[in-house]
Amino acid sequence: MKLTVNSDRTQELIRYRRLIHKHPELRYEENKTAALVTDHLKKLGINFQDKIAETGVVALIDSGKPGKTLLVRADMDALPIFEESTAEYKSVHDGVMHACGHDAHTSILMGLATEIKEDIRSILPKGKVLLVFQPAEEGGQGADRMIEQGILEKYNVDAAIALHVWNHIPVGKVGVVDGPMMAAVDEFTIRISGVSGHGAMPQHTVDPIVTGAHIVTALQTIVSRNTDPLDSCVVTVGSFHSGNAFNVIPETAELKGTVRTYSKRMFEEVPERLRRVVEGVADAFGAEVGIHYERTNRPTINEPYMADIVRKASVNILGQGSVTEENTKSMGGEDFSAFLMKVPGCYFFVGSGNETKGLIHPHHSSKFDIDEDSLSIGLSVLKEAVRLYLEEN
Ligand SMILES: [Zn+2]
Ligand SMILES: [Zn+2]
Repeated sequence: MKLTVNSDRTQELIRYRRLIHKHPELRYEENKTAALVTDHLKKLGINFQDKIAETGVVALIDSGKPGKTLLVRADMDALPIFEESTAEYKSVHDGVMHACGHDAHTSILMGLATEIKEDIRSILPKGKVLLVFQPAEEGGQGADRMIEQGILEKYNVDAAIALHVWNHIPVGKVGVVDGPMMAAVDEFTIRISGVSGHGAMPQHTVDPIVTGAHIVTALQTIVSRNTDPLDSCVVTVGSFHSGNAFNVIPETAELKGTVRTYSKRMFEEVPERLRRVVEGVADAFGAEVGIHYERTNRPTINEPYMADIVRKASVNILGQGSVTEENTKSMGGEDFSAFLMKVPGCYFFVGSGNETKGLIHPHHSSKFDIDEDSLSIGLSVLKEAVRLYLEEN
């Protein structure tokens, strides 16, 4: 396996990644992380714009020759998780942890800035690259907020790429697919209002718990009876709260859950189906119901040409056979989808799992950690993808 970044760069990537890992910050609080990024850009003499969508930073690097503008994104936020680790770079903020690998992404994009600065001619044969350090990927819609602030128009972005380290793929491989890769993420809350009363005299009540139980069961038919078996959809009720005494039928119940869809068709149809099921069941039991349905991410859909750029980059750096589609599609959500709705692009995985080193814990696990070889690999592939895109366009 040939790597195209030198050992100094590799050390820098590890140093930054560990520093960020040790000082994780939750969504829209990435102030120190953003300061680390802007200090780094200042040292390199790269102009930037900061405080976009609270803590976001963008930097445009121009080759000086006319061409397209490619946006490259890294997310910076951590998660509200207690880290279980004995590593010296373990989080010093109790209950906050880089459990998704966004520390790696930030470090890699900082590394790309250094690489471009050192050898702009090879990496940017023409055109421009827009580095985007984004806040709040984890349920904070940071991508949407950066787009709302006009960065795509201001910098004339033509295409976008982003990587994610991925422990379900072994280090040394790159996961990329054409078309849908990650799911749309919707969130719903259902409030059921019944009539409370004595647990021994149900005839005078409308029981929101029984109604809620039937709603949970009926919601399962969205996937089992309304979804094309070749399409993908998940409906999960993750929270059900009601009552607090053994002999009282309560007044209300509240259900919370998530819907994940993959195709445009399911993305459009499922919310309406959910509404009909919930209202129909509540009506049958004589309960009142209110539904709050919120859409966060759209499906993450790769443009085949852009996916091809990433595949070529991976083969050039890591060799034939380095590209995989295994464990590459997921029902998880990704807010990079917001960029992909606006411009053609590709979101891809850089393998960071390593069974022999015990680095097998899934993302969002309190034991999550990555094989740090994925840092230099990620940077090399990213750099090559940037070069290929700008050269071809
Ligand atoms: Zn995550
Ligand atoms: Zn993530």
